[in-house]
Amino acid sequence: MEIAKEKGEFGYEFFSNEINKAIIDYTQTKTLLKNALKHREFIYHFQPYVDSKSLKIAGAETLLRIKHNNKIIYPNSFIDYAENSGFIKTIEKQMFPKFLEYLQQINIPLSFNISGKSLTDEEHIKNLFKKIHNLPINIELTEREIAGDIEYTKKIFNYFKNKKFRLSIDDFGTGYSSFSYLKDLPADYLKIDISFVRNIENSKKDYAIVETIIDFAHKFNMKTIAEGVENINQLKLLQNAECDYIQGFYFYKPMPFNEFKSLL
Ligand code: C2E
Ligand code: CA
Ligand code: CA
Repeated sequence: MEIAKEKGEFGYEFFSNEINKAIIDYTQTKTLLKNALKHREFIYHFQPYVDSKSLKIAGAETLLRIKHNNKIIYPNSFIDYAENSGFIKTIEKQMFPKFLEYLQQINIPLSFNISGKSLTDEEHIKNLFKKIHNLPINIELTEREIAGDIEYTKKIFNYFKNKKFRLSIDDFGTGYSSFSYLKDLPADYLKIDISFVRNIENSKKDYAIVETIIDFAHKFNMKTIAEGVENINQLKLLQNAECDYIQGFYFYKPMPFNEFKSLL
């Protein structure tokens, strides 16, 4: 009791608990990922996006999860660690063949998220996509991750373009890419970040940003996909602003493959 009080007074106890928690989280996540790889517990869920006019399904995004003891573990608890540790490359190696298997069973384009860590490893990218071309694959790269070495990014974008893949810039509006940077990248879609969509009803500024992104995209021959659409008002505003595609819980939540396939 005495010791605990003393430690508490000096803030020591709190501090050491925080560090311990971080260490436990770190080692737990590492163990989680190792086991998930070993026991093949990684799975994909599929979230369709729709054409904003016809409201018909135009494609879907594959989203990674871990299925452990019949529980689903979402990427927010492991993706940062996976990307920073480089584990993500091993996960991609294991999961990309699965992705292709799924793609063969459907007749709409599927999006595949690539982390910045993988993107900068040219050898890894080339091994992953070796012999794969001319399939309806949409590669999603976040704006934050492409805004590094412009020459390298252009090279990788062209590598994917030569394979006839589509390219999307994800979380658009949250990174630092400049117009001069974007004008040379052969991207097909800008994905408007969820943070703008969330505020679009209440903030004129956010609506203006969304309109500007859409105008910009169209002038550069790109299409736009709005993420995180959860209600009809957001949908109407996005239709007004001529957004091309809509993704969000209002239409579909991410779902297991069987459900997705029967939906199609
Ligand atoms: P992201 O690529 O921006 O994916 C969109 C996220 O928004 C997904 O979260 C999706 O479930 C969620 N979402 C979609 N519609 C709505 C909506 O209407 N409302 C709300 N609140 N959320 C919505 P999820 O699946 O948890 O994935 C989180 C992030 O994890 C992804 O963000 C992506 O950065 C990363 N991630 C997921 N799968 C992969 C993967 O296979 N590889 C890599 N490198 N990262 C992945
Ligand atoms: Ca994405
Ligand atoms: Ca996103």
